[in-house]
Amino acid sequence: MRLLQELSSNLNRLFLLELHDGSRVEAVYYRGDTLCISTQVGCAIGCPFCLSGKGGLLRNLSAEEIILQYELLKDRLEIRGIAFAGIGEPLMNWEAVKKAFWHFKALGLRVSFYTTGYPVKKLRELLALPHRGVSISVHSVKEETRKRLLPYAGSLEDLIQTLREELSSMSLRKRKKISLAYLLLKGVNDTEEELKDFAMLVKSLGVSATLLRYNQTVGKFKDVEDWEYERAFLLLKSYGIRVTLSNRFRKDPLGGCGTLVANRNPTMCLEGL
Ligand code: SF4
Repeated sequence: MRLLQELSSNLNRLFLLELHDGSRVEAVYYRGDTLCISTQVGCAIGCPFCLSGKGGLLRNLSAEEIILQYELLKDRLEIRGIAFAGIGEPLMNWEAVKKAFWHFKALGLRVSFYTTGYPVKKLRELLALPHRGVSISVHSVKEETRKRLLPYAGSLEDLIQTLREELSSMSLRKRKKISLAYLLLKGVNDTEEELKDFAMLVKSLGVSATLLRYNQTVGKFKDVEDWEYERAFLLLKSYGIRVTLSNRFRKDPLGGCGTLVANRNPTMCLEGL
């Protein structure tokens, strides 16, 4: 693996990495302490709002390739945490991700995950690991809308059932590290009724919510206005749940949610940003 290019904004540093077969993935350094890494070249989940899965899944990364993203950058950055939040669905490359997880843990790093929760069998294993946080993309509590937003992430019913089973036996301390993510999209999932149903789900599971804002990437989706985002936040809070907002690192056009690209052309990389 070699570093092809580094791009920086005021908030994030994005690293374009080339693998031995010429495939390219990306890693992002944010918050001054965390490295977000990729697990696959592309992604099979096919979320229409995300650039990473636009060309489908090309291949899995090996555990060594996942670890190398850290090894290659560790001397130039102060890395205290790893986020499995880059290109790919970690649970779809689970054996390699698990191996890399234990490697990072042995180095004393905090490790967090961002996942669709699919396949649920692997989600059960993930929840049992000594992680620092797992954020599970729900985005809608309507089966049909969720299918539109996460086309190949299995059924919402299965996900909720799995969470109910796993969380019921989990300590409160551990449950606090689990959050359900909701990407607020204008005119898609932003009604009071939908937000209320989401809040009720979060409450019934005893976890927290992460309310995400959209980075304009692909597709016809639109971000909500500031006041709409605030209104959604207050509405969720009014049901007595803990809500985390999209932080500015996740909203940054460079390296923010949904903006990473598999096999990015290095020249386009410079032009596009
Ligand atoms: S949001 Fe995540 S799961 Fe969905 S296509 Fe992008 S990388 Fe894959």
